Amino acid sequence: MAMQHRTSRSRARHRRAHWKASAPTLTTCTNPACGKPTLPHRACQHCGFYRGREVLPPTGR
Ligand SMILES: [Zn+2]
Repeated sequence: MAMQHRTSRSRARHRRAHWKASAPTLTTCTNPACGKPTLPHRACQHCGFYRGREVLPPTGR
């Protein structure tokens, strides 16, 4: 698309005012003992569980 008009400072700011940070999508942990909200396709932040087994050591050693 060819540039037709210069975007005014006001127009640019109005457009940028629309993009907001969105809340991250969360799923519930697969570990029945944990069940905390966690990020999908990632090991749980709380217990280190992913797809039914522990893959990461829990935080705090
Ligand atoms: Zn968990």
